Amino acid sequence: MQTLTSGRVISRQAGAVLASAVLLAVTATAALAKPHVAIVATGGTIAGAQTSPQGPGYTAGAFNIETLIAGVPQLKDIADISGEQLVKIGSQDMNDAVWLKLAKRVNELLAGKDVDAVVITHGTDTMEETSYFLDLVVNSDKPVVLVGSMRPATAISADGPGNLYDAVTVAADPDAKGRGVLVVLNDQVFAARDVYKTNTTQVDTFKALDRGPIGRVEEGSAELFEVPTGKHTTASGFSVAGTDTLPKVDIVYAYANMGRELIDAAVKAGAKGIVVAGVGNGNMTAEALQALTDARKQGVVVVRSTRLPSGAVTRNAEVNDDELGFVAAEELKPGKARVLLKLALMKTSDPMQIQQMFRDY
Ligand code: GLU
Repeated sequence: MQTLTSGRVISRQAGAVLASAVLLAVTATAALAKPHVAIVATGGTIAGAQTSPQGPGYTAGAFNIETLIAGVPQLKDIADISGEQLVKIGSQDMNDAVWLKLAKRVNELLAGKDVDAVVITHGTDTMEETSYFLDLVVNSDKPVVLVGSMRPATAISADGPGNLYDAVTVAADPDAKGRGVLVVLNDQVFAARDVYKTNTTQVDTFKALDRGPIGRVEEGSAELFEVPTGKHTTASGFSVAGTDTLPKVDIVYAYANMGRELIDAAVKAGAKGIVVAGVGNGNMTAEALQALTDARKQGVVVVRSTRLPSGAVTRNAEVNDDELGFVAAEELKPGKARVLLKLALMKTSDPMQIQQMFRDY
């Protein structure tokens, strides 16, 4: 009896020890389970190499993604990392074909249960356009973060490795989920819709002059303090699935003495939409206005944006948009207005419906 009792006691103790061990193991596994962040590389200065350490020139996209990942071994502490090279270009060469390829690959990766987030390395020249394009056509609430650098990988004080670490930190943070596509550079986090490159060479080039950054990265952790309000990702309604081409949309820049030739040339070249980077609140000379009016009569959708770095272009201010059938770009500057117009034209060419999109997105 005693033995049995002892046996029962021993067995209860053994059971408790076993249960604690299992609990510890489960907790430890959960603590060790890192998110899987897939890095998709497209080139840019972050992968750039100088011909000589002191030399001014460099080639964008010289290094492969494997080299960039190997250069920041600390990435493995925050996430399980995989890398793939989609293209190897300076982002000044970004085009519709690469955008479609990138969007489809990102959607494919995010649809997989094994991928928690995607980081895209990209040149900074057109990052404001690619990020917004993806914001509108990625169909997932998992984090997508674009990252680049202003100094090539071989430069003294290269900013790429730190930016890449920060981008993976943000992507691996569950709080980044549902905030749309993000841009991370220079310790700051921006919503794709709001961010623009503002300086040709400085590392603090990215700004969101109308709305500010939505977060920051400090001492290896992300703090996201704003939720972007425009429609994006899962709520966007735009899709490029099964699409091989995008409508042609051109941008014309307004200035004193602007003529009509470039607008006429865009129409002749087959533009379905024209974004004018207007002076002030989306204005242009009477001659350019007449050319845009003629373009509209031929079915071209005209969007008035501004060449200024901040502020919204307001409807019917000095140009009667109602009468002319134009669209006011609201807060979107020309590069981003062009992205939204290209996607809008896949659905409709009705200017009032497109105007509503410029309010909603
Ligand atoms: N033209 C390069 C690019 O956009 C340089 C800009 C950069 O990556 O910083 O790829």
